[in-house]
Formats: sequence, C-alpha cells, structure tokens
Amino acid sequence: MADRDSNGAADATEHSALDTALDASDPIAREAQTFPRLSAQMIERVMRYGSEERFAARAPVFSRGDRSVDFFVVLEGSIEIFDVDEHDLPQVFVVLRTRQFAGELDLFNERQVLVSARAGEASRLLRVKRADFRRLVSTEADIGEIVMRAFILRRVGLIRHVHGGVVVVGPAHGADTLRLQQFLSRNAYPHRLLDTEQDAEAGGFLDCFSLTAADLPVVIAPGHRVLRNPSLAQMADDLGMTETFDHATVFDLAVVGAGPAGLAAAVYGASEGLQTIVLESLAPGGQAGTSSKIENYLGFPTGISGQALAGRAQVQAQKFGARLAVSRAVTALDCEATPYRLSLEDGATIRARAVVIATGARYRKLDVPGYERFEGQGIYYAATAMEADLCRDAEAIVVGGGNSAGQAAVFLSRSCGHVHVLVRGEGLAATMSDYLVQRIERSDRITLHACCEIVGLEGDASLRAVTWRHRQTGTETTRPVSAIFAMIGAEPNTGWVHGCLELDAQGFVVTGERAGHGADSPYATSRPGVYAVGDVRSGSVKRVASGVGEGSVVVQSIHRFLHPPLA
Ligand SMILES: Cc1cc2nc3c(=O)[nH]c(=O)nc-3n(C[C@H](O)[C@H](O)[C@H](O)COP(=O)(O)OP(=O)(O)OC[C@H]3O[C@@H](n4cnc5c(N)ncnc54)[C@H](O)[C@@H]3O)c2cc1C
Repeated sequence: MADRDSNGAADATEHSALDTALDASDPIAREAQTFPRLSAQMIERVMRYGSEERFAARAPVFSRGDRSVDFFVVLEGSIEIFDVDEHDLPQVFVVLRTRQFAGELDLFNERQVLVSARAGEASRLLRVKRADFRRLVSTEADIGEIVMRAFILRRVGLIRHVHGGVVVVGPAHGADTLRLQQFLSRNAYPHRLLDTEQDAEAGGFLDCFSLTAADLPVVIAPGHRVLRNPSLAQMADDLGMTETFDHATVFDLAVVGAGPAGLAAAVYGASEGLQTIVLESLAPGGQAGTSSKIENYLGFPTGISGQALAGRAQVQAQKFGARLAVSRAVTALDCEATPYRLSLEDGATIRARAVVIATGARYRKLDVPGYERFEGQGIYYAATAMEADLCRDAEAIVVGGGNSAGQAAVFLSRSCGHVHVLVRGEGLAATMSDYLVQRIERSDRITLHACCEIVGLEGDASLRAVTWRHRQTGTETTRPVSAIFAMIGAEPNTGWVHGCLELDAQGFVVTGERAGHGADSPYATSRPGVYAVGDVRSGSVKRVASGVGEGSVVVQSIHRFLHPPLA
C-alpha cells in the first residue's frame, strides 16, 4: 500500500500548465500532481460549493459501480481508496489526507466508478455535489486545472497498475481477444491479459472459473462475473462504461462519431451552452486514435499519439458537460421527424434539434483469397503499441503509400524484425510526405517494394507467410510474415444516412453550395440543421487539424440554425 500523503505531495499552489504536468517524467513531481494538496486558501474557496459531513472510521464514501459520485475533500482524517482482491478483501492503494481530494475522470461523466473509497478513521469530509463540482471547476480556474490534471494522471495510474480493472483471458493472437483488448485500451479502461498461448491454464484461472479453451476469450469482471466472448456493447454495458440517458430528452446537438472532428464539435458545442450528446460506435479518437504518433498537429512539436490526443479531447468535452455514449452505433437518421431522431444499434433512439455527422471513414480491404480469415489474426488496420507487440522481432508488411502507411512503417520498424512496405505504384513520392519517405529510405529495417501486390496468405490459427507479385515482371516472393497492416485508403461511414442526405459518387456527404446551403455554412448538408464535418464530408482535407477545425467552426452555424436572428 502506498501512502501518497507521506510521499511528497506538494502544496497545490505550485503548479504548472496541464501539458507540462502530463509530460512530467520526474516521478516525485508526478506523484505530487496526481495527489495534490490544495492550499488553505483554495480550501476556503472550495468550501463555498459544498457541505461538511462526518464519516465514522471505515464508513463507505463511494463504492465501485456507483454512478454520479460526488467530489470529496478531506478536511480532517483520511479517505482510503481501495480495490478488492480475488478473495474479495479490500486492498487499499492510496490514502488521501487533509486538503487532498478523491475522484478521477468518471466525475466528469455518468459512468460507473472503478474503485471504492472509505473513511480511514473518523473523518470530516467536504462533499461537493456533481452540479456544484462542475461550477467549481469552471469558475475557480486554478483549482479546476489542478483537479483535471490529477484526474487524468490518476486514470493513467489505474491503467498502469490495473486498479479497478478487469482480466481478459484468452490467446493473445486471437481476433476476439484483440477486439476486446482494443476496445478496453481505446476507452482507457484498466485491464490485463492472461495469455493462454503462454500459459494454457492462465495461472489457474480456467480451473477456478470452470472454463475450457472453447469458452475463450472471457472477461472476468468485478464480483467474479465471467463474460464469455462478449460483444463490445455487452461488455460496455456490463462494465458500466456506457452512460445512461433519459430518452425523452431532446438534445440541442447530437454529434455522431467521436473522432477528432466530432470531439471538436462536442467541445465547442458544450462549451457554448448547447446540450450536447456524442454517439460513438467504438471508442473516442476515430482513425486518429489508431495513429501511433501524429507529428503534424499544431502545438505538439515532438508529436502526440492519437489516443492521448483523443483522451484529452474527450475529457475536455465532458468537462463542459457533453454526454458521451460509446459502443453505440447510429443505424439510421429519421430526417422527416422534428426534432431529428437517431436510431441506435441497441434499439434506443436519441432526439436532437441539430445533428453533426462526423463518422469519418474506414480502411479499405485487400482483395486476396482467405483475407477475412486472418482479419484480426495477422491483418490489422492500425499500428499501435498493441499490434506492434504482436509482431515483435517478426517480419511485417505495410500496404499503402499514404502518410498513415509511412507512419506505421516507421513506428513498427522499432520493434518488428523487418518491415516491408508494398505499393502498387512506382514509389512513394507522389503520395507520402517527404519526411516519411526519407525516414523509410534511410532505415535498414524497412524495404520498399514498388509495383507489388499481395497474392497469397498462409497460416493456421494466425498468419504465417505472405506472397506478393511484382506487377510488371510477375516475380513472386514469399516471406515468413506474421502481420499485414492494410492502409490503402478509406471509404466513408455513411451507410446509415442513405436516402436522407445528398452523397457524392463515393458516398461522402455533400455540403455547402453543392448541397444548396452554401450561404448558411460550408458544412451544411442538404437537410437544414444537419451538418457534416471531417473525413466524411465530400471534398474535405483528410487530416486531424482540418477535422478539428471543421468541428469547431460548425458550431457557429448550429447556433444560427437553433436561434435564427429575427427578421
Ligand atoms: C493510422 C492513421 C494515421 C494517421 N495519421 C495522421 C497524421 O499524422 N496527421 C493527420 O493530420 N492525419 C492523420 N490521419 C488521418 C486522420 O486520423 C483523419 O483525417 C481524422 O481522424 C478524421 O477525423 P474524423 O473525426 O473526421 O473521422 P474519424 O477519425 O474517422 O472518426 C469517425 C468516428 O466515427 C465513428 N463512427 C463511424 N460510424 C458510426 C456510426 N454509424 N455511429 C456512431 N459512430 C460512428 C467511428 O468509430 C470513429 O470513431 C491518420 C489516419 C490513420 C488511420
């Protein structure tokens, strides 16, 4: 057990900017920022937002699985934060003392909290109710910054130490194991994998839960609940990752898709007073969330991982009050209804007066026999640390000549034995940024194969070998490759708006003048009050920064639509 109070928590008057804090590599500084102690003067200000309560020793303050937990500050005594072990015994991993506060990111949303808290001894705590907590962080900016930074760092700590998480049991290379892990990682949910490829008994877990290999993968949830190969929606619901909504509510704005463009629309919409909901089929971040490093986004000279960017944007949107439903694909837009009605995969509906479509695009598939069999078991569409681990020291292929392919090749070359970049064209110069082309050319761990295409896949449970053919000479090459990263352009995610909006020949949403609404907004679609931003929009620049820009700017047009000026 770490007693954080005795571990160097500094007075919170000495704080630096959020970004500096998040990049801090000094463990003591990080500890102080994760569990800060508010100054006496700050406590005086916080007192105005809450009321004092007395707790007996060991009295519960909140429990894992609760929703809508309040914000607690220790005035006297202590709060112990704990998880339960496999014998259901509490394991305290943090003790918060005078002028320290409890809580983490779930204080900004309605998800179930991940850990429990109790009074360490007879204690006097300040309870700040949810609505007052929101007022506190937005009004008292200095305190809000300390709290926000601490909450982000605490979630990082929960993930790192798997406090308040779940155990995934299954074969590391199994497509379903990967599917579950990707979902948990991309939603910043703490978890660890018991890899049955390494240990067939998974450390006794299979016996303990009467499971056989046929049941795998499983997720062991709190209370020893076993979820057998759950769908993402089932797992999200079971773990309380999805917010609950009053379906009678009419939102001002529904944003469909939580990629960079959708998250930007949510931040600007919510911060400008619109009651905003974001509906996301998978996890925040979109395509950008699968990028190992974005180097051309303004303000991050050393680059930022897509997941880190998305994580911050999500917290920012929630701080301003935006609601976020993950694992909730929108299946249809009823554009005859007023307000607009969006149908979700689970049969529920959401009503909103304005809609922003930010559903982006998804990667195209290769046309090779046996392709589907290896999807998720050797064929991937993202190159994050998780996929890189799966092809450590082995040969990998990146297919594609765009920037995403270039980034993936450079990133994978650090851990894979060798990376082959395959393109059908003559080279990379016409399609990839020069800095990436140069890195690929200079690397002795990457080989470019121009004018080539994959013609054969071999393997059993997972991919073992790949054959490619030179399109001009017909020469075939077979290599022992365990991972293919397919990055060959994208198709828009617009199947769900069919019949409702004007689409271009490729299926992207037509906006602005071409949609007959140029005077209103370049992002207006053929339906009043429905806008499209980011990669899903016909003619858009397919970049993070442009998506963020469009998502931010569109909110002005939504205000004009919702509150038209009097004639
Ligand atoms: C590997 C990779 C690396 C990249 N690197 C860079 C880079 O370095 N710099 C750069 O500028 N750009 C980069 N890009 C491009 C950039 O990521 C995209 O341009 C950007 O993410 C587009 O943002 P978006 O919000 O419009 O759409 P997306 O990012 O595609 O997000 C759309 C979201 O909508 C969700 N969605 C789809 N359908 C539905 C539905 N029916 N219901 C609910 N939700 C739905 C998806 O799950 C997704 O989360 C990269 C892309 C990839 C794939």
